[in-house]
Amino acid sequence: MNSTEPAQYLFNPVIPSLAVAGSDRRFPVRRVYCVGRNYAEHAREMGHDPDREPPFFFTKHPDGLLADGGVFPYPPGTRDVHHEIELVVAIGRGGADIAVEQALEHVYGYAVGLDMTRRDLQAEAKKMGRPWAVAKAFDHAAPCSALVPAAEIGHPGTGRIWLDINGEPRQEGDLAAQIWSVAEVIAHLSRLFVLEPGDLIMTGTPAGVGPVEPGDRLSGGVQGVGTLEIVVGQ
Ligand code: MN
Repeated sequence: MNSTEPAQYLFNPVIPSLAVAGSDRRFPVRRVYCVGRNYAEHAREMGHDPDREPPFFFTKHPDGLLADGGVFPYPPGTRDVHHEIELVVAIGRGGADIAVEQALEHVYGYAVGLDMTRRDLQAEAKKMGRPWAVAKAFDHAAPCSALVPAAEIGHPGTGRIWLDINGEPRQEGDLAAQIWSVAEVIAHLSRLFVLEPGDLIMTGTPAGVGPVEPGDRLSGGVQGVGTLEIVVGQ
């Protein structure tokens, strides 16, 4: 290859996308936002007071999505990778400064996701006052199920959210325990970024986070939305 090689060597044209359940269509993904500490019990298990914090956000890379049924390669640079099962919101209509009352009109659909986290690197980042990117935005850090359109299932505000490892319960919660509702999350986020179709929002995890090991089978879900299963690779 020399400097006159065509751009295909320099630019990967593959747009990350999610399957749309029950159809052949794909949902092209633009950005992946995540909410920190959105369930009180999880905030407490991480050593924070859930009553004192407005929502805060971090991001993952869209090409870090991993489809349902996939193998999650155990990532480098860590010895403590944690699972965080989350409801994922897909934005279908963009906007800025979106009012809470109109926020759900911007939702295309929902999915089940895992906010995989290199917890040891996150702890170091917190201690040093450094960004969370290496803890949260590594390769394959966002396993996600197929999307289910809100036109089919509505907007789940309550319902069980859970994660099992090798058939044993690890995380258990209810969407009703979210500190910030989906509508409130969209409203807050849209004051910081212009939302566009294709944006995903991982809405936080209930209590029970913990480490995964090579060979583990992670299976979780959100009642009324769907399920997600991945295997941890070597
Ligand atoms: Mn999370």
